[in-house]
Amino acid sequence: MTDFSRRNFLKAVGIGGAASLASLGCAANGTATASRSARVIVVGGGSGGATAAKYLKRFSPDMDVTLIEPNATYYTCYGSNWVLGGNAEMDDIAQSYDALQSRHGVKVVQDTVMEIDPAGRTVTTSAGEAMNYDRLVMSPGIDFRYDAVPGITEADSERIPHAWKAGEQTRLLRQQLEAMPDGGIFVMVAPGNPFRCPPGPYERASMVAHYFQQEKPRSKIIILDNKEAFSKQGLFMEGWAQHYGDMIEWVASSRGGQVEEIDAANLRTISDGGFTEFKADVLNYIPPQTAGKIAKQTGLAGDGFWCPVNQLTFESTIHPGIYVIGDSSVAGAMPKSGHSANNQAKVAAAAIVRDLAGLEPLAPSTANTCYSLITPDHAISVAAVYAYQDGTIGGVEGAGGVSPMDAPASVRRQEALYTKGWYDGITADIWG
Ligand SMILES: Cc1cc2nc3c(=O)[nH]c(=O)nc-3n(C[C@H](O)[C@H](O)[C@H](O)COP(=O)(O)OP(=O)(O)OC[C@H]3O[C@@H](n4cnc5c(N)ncnc54)[C@H](O)[C@@H]3O)c2cc1C
Repeated sequence: MTDFSRRNFLKAVGIGGAASLASLGCAANGTATASRSARVIVVGGGSGGATAAKYLKRFSPDMDVTLIEPNATYYTCYGSNWVLGGNAEMDDIAQSYDALQSRHGVKVVQDTVMEIDPAGRTVTTSAGEAMNYDRLVMSPGIDFRYDAVPGITEADSERIPHAWKAGEQTRLLRQQLEAMPDGGIFVMVAPGNPFRCPPGPYERASMVAHYFQQEKPRSKIIILDNKEAFSKQGLFMEGWAQHYGDMIEWVASSRGGQVEEIDAANLRTISDGGFTEFKADVLNYIPPQTAGKIAKQTGLAGDGFWCPVNQLTFESTIHPGIYVIGDSSVAGAMPKSGHSANNQAKVAAAAIVRDLAGLEPLAPSTANTCYSLITPDHAISVAAVYAYQDGTIGGVEGAGGVSPMDAPASVRRQEALYTKGWYDGITADIWG
């Protein structure tokens, strides 16, 4: 993987670390200008945005970096399934912006970006403040396509949580699971590809099963899936059979898993042209997804759901000067994950600093790792390395891999320890 340490980066960049507009020799309008620090605004303080803000300052300490994020506390989606399983608390997945401000010199503005003018290079927040930028980084995560299935609207998420953005939704789903009687049915509706965190629904089913096994062992979990196969499927199914017997039932798209309608008032799903119905005690509908609302609204997704970028730099192919990273972007073979967003942020930060210094971008090498808990002591993982080639980010053959099938309990236990280590490492890299 690319070595992003500041010393090596600055050596590669060949500058003193300060990206000033004077180094370009002229202002945007072509006139000579006195030196001023370049101003980069980052929209969204999640996995991608917080990393980008921090690494822009590390690569270029004099740069004026402002991070705009509405929430004072960010709850990681990673670990939110552990909260649902009763083996972590909300505080365990809470991240603050203190270190970004005090240790790294990022200006953090607690607000929502309402409008972006790509031609005038301004961002306007809900407080009505208009801010100019030289470069903009967007990492607004995902939005939901509640229009995909009739019978359910976004307002229903207050009773039928998606819990696909962590925080209040995680709390709500946990409360519903706690209130559910023993012998109840938990129905999860899983989206088709692509979506945030490919193994996420199946880790969720595992963690809920872990909770049910201890507190309500007669209960059942049904996963209605909008696809025919899923990430780490063999390993999940092996673990489910080993630990939970027949508590979890997975229904493939072609076998009734593709939900065609939801009777939200009665927590009922309808598929197979009306031949298959499930009545849930707790319904977890995870809708199909799209790039974050502000990215769509700015036209960064064009006519599609996700934002196309130059995969060498993550600069939008639609609006120059705007870099889209994380779940909102189209990033070749990289899955929509926190690990991916963190890596992409560093690529974009490096590309911006080089661009401001008048240098060509470097070809990035990136990675993704995803651990999933089946029980608190049984984890599985998938890892991949990616390289930029022929205009796209592709997987490097022979690098990475998945956990072996039929591994002894000691291996699964070891991976459960790595899971926690991964969480501590990545959150320290992003917000620490
Ligand atoms: C259940 C679950 C488990 C997961 N587990 C893992 C895992 O184990 N490993 C892993 O790598 N990934 C995991 N993920 C995926 C990971 O959480 C996301 O892929 C990652 O957070 C994406 O980063 P992002 O920066 O694109 O979006 P986010 O992290 O969602 O950040 C987006 C931020 O933008 C802000 N924002 C949105 N609109 C605006 C606006 N208009 N103005 C200002 N700010 C705005 C939001 O408030 C938010 O803070 C999991 C996801 C889920 C749902």
